[in-house]
Formats: sequence, C-alpha cells, structure tokens
Amino acid sequence: MSLLPSLPATRHLGPNGPAISPIAWGMWRLAEGGRGPAEAARLVHAALDAGINLLDTADIYGFDGTGGFGDAEALLGDVLRAEPALRGRMVLASKGGIMPPLPYDQSPAYLNAAIDASLRRLCTDRIDLYQIHRPDILAHPQEVARVLDDAVAAGKIGALGVSNFTCAQIAALNHFLGTKLVTTQPEISPLRITCFENGELDQAMMLGLTPLAWSPLGGGRLIAPESARDRAICAALDKVASEQGVSRSVAAYAWLMAHPAGIVPIIGSQQSERIAEGAQAMKVRWTRTDWYAVLVAARGERLP
Ligand code: NAP
Repeated sequence: MSLLPSLPATRHLGPNGPAISPIAWGMWRLAEGGRGPAEAARLVHAALDAGINLLDTADIYGFDGTGGFGDAEALLGDVLRAEPALRGRMVLASKGGIMPPLPYDQSPAYLNAAIDASLRRLCTDRIDLYQIHRPDILAHPQEVARVLDDAVAAGKIGALGVSNFTCAQIAALNHFLGTKLVTTQPEISPLRITCFENGELDQAMMLGLTPLAWSPLGGGRLIAPESARDRAICAALDKVASEQGVSRSVAAYAWLMAHPAGIVPIIGSQQSERIAEGAQAMKVRWTRTDWYAVLVAARGERLP
C-alpha cells in the first residue's frame, strides 16, 4: 500500500521567515485554573524540548466572559521575563482584533494600541507572527493593511496572518498588504472538514499560506466522542493509531499534517506529557485508503 509523502522536518514562515516545526502548541487555555509562571514555564519547556517551536497565543486568551483579557499573554510574558533565553528558541505567534464586549475592532487606533499592548504583555519587542483573530466587517481591508504594514516596517511584527477569514476576506486583505500574509488559521479537525472542500486550503496553497489548524481534536471531543459520527471518525483514526503504536490524538494530528497544504495542527493540551506526545505525529505515515476512510467517516456518506 503506497504511503502519502513524508513531511519535511521544518518549514518556513513565508519565503524569508524563520523555520517552524510542522506542529505547534497553543495557549488558549494557559491562564485557566490559576496556573502560575512556574507551571507555564514547564509547559513552554515541554513544547520546545519536543521540537515544537511555533507557540500560538492571543490577547483575548484568558478572557472568561467578564475579565481576564490579556492574561495568557501576560503569563507567557512572565515566563519570558524570568528566562529571557527562551524567547530565541520560539517563533512567537499572537493575535488581536477582538475586544469584548465589542465583537471585533480593527480600526487603526484600536489595532495599533492592541499590537503595542501585546508586545508589553509578552515582554518582547517583536511578535514573529501577528494574526488578525476574526474579521471586523466594519474595517476596510486597506486600512487594516496599512496598520499591519506599518507595524512590520517598525519591526514590531515579523510576519502576518489571519484567522477565521473567508477566502474572499483573505484575498482582499492580501491585495492591499505590502508584506503579504504567510498564515491562515481556520478550525480544522477530523470533526470539522469544511476547509477541505470550500477552497480555503486550495487558496492557502495558491498563496503560499501555511494553514494553522485550531482545535485539531475538536476541543477534546475526539477523545470523548459524543455522537455516532464522532465514534465512526474515532474508529477510522484508531485503526491507524493501533497499527503505528500511537494514540488517537497523535493519529488525528498526523491526519491533518498529511494534507498537501502542509497543515500545522496547534496542540491545545496544557499537560506536558500530552504536548510532548504530540510531536510523535511527525513520524506517522498515512496511506491514501486510510486517509480517505477518516474523511468518509467525517462526511457521514460515501464520496461521489
Ligand atoms: P484541541 O487539541 O482540539 O483540544 C484541547 C483540549 O482537549 C484540552 O482541553 C485538552 O485537555 C483536551 N484533551 C483531552 N484529552 C486529550 C489528549 N489525549 N490529548 C490532547 N488533548 C486532550 O485544541 P484547542 O485547545 O481547542 O485549540 C488549540 C489551539 O488552537 C489553542 O490553544 C489556540 O492556540 C488555537 N485556537 C484558535 C482559535 C481561533 O479562533 N483562532 C480558536 C480556538 C483555539 P488537557 O489540557 O487536560 O490535555
């Protein structure tokens, strides 16, 4: 049975950007449960020691509906203040553009202030990848592009990305940008397969964007399936997991990574062992037959 091509050990964030691992670690849940800097540092070390160097956060991570905006960035900033050498080992990604209770704000004044606030909280003078978290329907892409280009020119941002943008929104922002986008971050998992068929991944390949997959385990639902469809997907993943001696979560990451767009799954776990275990996904190989079996289970019907 022929195997899908094996992955390059690293790839670059855009044509001239830093090398990144084919799997990332995310800090959405970092500030939950009263976690302090020492425990956060252990998680950062777990990711870096496992060869995962792309670390993803956002200014809104930590927000619980009432407060906590900025807390996940600030916690990572505490880690970096205590151990500055860690900064050089990571490619630091963050996001902005959502400000509770307003839904989205990418007006120039807000976005400029948000970038500066993220830099302060993260205790760094440069964010390697700055992503617009969700599109602000009321912001003209030309204005957003101007703010982002100025921040790149000022050295505050290394590279640019978006998250939860439609194909047309990506094309519009990229049209006005001098420094073009290098990433897009949609939700992708065996439970959420829309971007395999709606053109998002095709556009990413065409524009050279690295797709970063958020919630690659469906927020944990792949580990605790809830429906007959979930269970069918898990069974298709488990077949490959047991054949290759890895867990279902590792098989799920590897399934995303086998796509030709070079999807980078963002591990969401905040447990050292699970973060380190995720790096095993780099070794899992898929056959076409097994890959499509997961897709068919996710579709809930045969392919035409
Ligand atoms: P996920 O990997 O789909 O889910 C992680 C959750 O699953 C954690 O609560 C984890 O708990 C749990 N889990 C249970 N069993 C697990 C196992 N065996 N292995 C790993 N995890 C297990 O990812 P996510 O946290 O929803 O999202 C990942 C990252 O994507 C975020 O950190 C963030 O960087 C990004 N994100 C971006 C957006 C966006 O709009 N751009 C939205 C959501 C997330 P434990 O911690 O106890 O392991």
